[in-house]
Amino acid sequence: MMARLLLSALAAFALAAMPGMAGAPEQSKRPVARGSGAVSAVQEPAGAVQEQVVAAISQLRPLIRPPSPQDLIARELPSGAAFAGMDSSLRPWLRPESMVELAMAQRKLRRNGAVCGDISIQGEREGRVRSRTRGCGIKDAVRITSVSGVSLSQSALLSCNAAKALKKWVDKGVQPAFASEGPVVKLQVAAHYTCRPRNNQSGARISEHGRGNAIDISAFILQSGKVVSVLSDWTGGGPLADSRKKACGIFKTVLGPGSDPYHGDHFHLDVAQDRSSTYCR
Ligand SMILES: [Zn+2]
Repeated sequence: MMARLLLSALAAFALAAMPGMAGAPEQSKRPVARGSGAVSAVQEPAGAVQEQVVAAISQLRPLIRPPSPQDLIARELPSGAAFAGMDSSLRPWLRPESMVELAMAQRKLRRNGAVCGDISIQGEREGRVRSRTRGCGIKDAVRITSVSGVSLSQSALLSCNAAKALKKWVDKGVQPAFASEGPVVKLQVAAHYTCRPRNNQSGARISEHGRGNAIDISAFILQSGKVVSVLSDWTGGGPLADSRKKACGIFKTVLGPGSDPYHGDHFHLDVAQDRSSTYCR
C-alpha cells in the first residue's frame, strides 16, 4: 500500500515537473539511467522521501541533446535546401558551358592544323614539291611547325614518313632522354628539305634532304630555357647521346658527332626508303 502511494506521488511529481514533455520534439526520448535515490526512496522515512523523489525526478528528466554537426550544417543552409547531409557532394560538377566550348574550339583548331592524319603533328599540307633536279622533290609534302607539342625553330618541309618518325622520336626518344632536365619544348632545326647532293659534295648522290626524308637537329631547348647544343654540349654521354641512340630504328640513318667530318654540330636523321637496315654510327 505504501509502495503504491509512493508510486502515484512519484507520477504526480513527474507530471508537474515536466509540463509538455510528450509534445517537445527537440527533447530526446532516450532514457537516462535512474539514480539510486529513486530505488532506495521506498525504505526512507516520509519527510526525506519527497526531497529524494524530487532529486530522482530531476535525474529522470531527459537531457536535451546538444546540436549535432549535421544540425549545425542544416541551420547554415538556405531554407528549402533539400540536402543537408555531407558538406561536399559526390556528384561531379557540371563543367561550365564556356569551358567545354573553349576546349572544343582548341581541339578543332588543332585538328584543322593537323597533318599526316595525326593531331599531334601540326603544320600545313604542301602537296607536291617539284624540282628541276632529278631525284629531288616530295610527292606529298607537309610543312611541320610542331610535333607532340614540341615546336620547331623553323617550319620543316618533310614527307609524312619523316614527320611521323620525328614525332615518334620526340615521344619515345627525346623526352625520355631529357626526363631529368626536361621537358624539351623546342627543337633547333638546322636543315630540312633542300635539293642538294649528300654532304654538299658535287657528284655525290642526292641527299635524303632532297626527298623530304631528312631533318637536321642542332639543339634542344628545355622548358627552363636551357639550350643543349650538339656542337657545344656533346660529351658522348647524357641526354644528347641517349636521344641520338634512341633515334636509331625510328629513323633509318642517324649521324652525329664522330660519324664523319660533316656532322659535328648536328644530328642527321632520315627515313631513307632505299635502306633496308639502319645505319647509325
Ligand atoms: Zn642532314
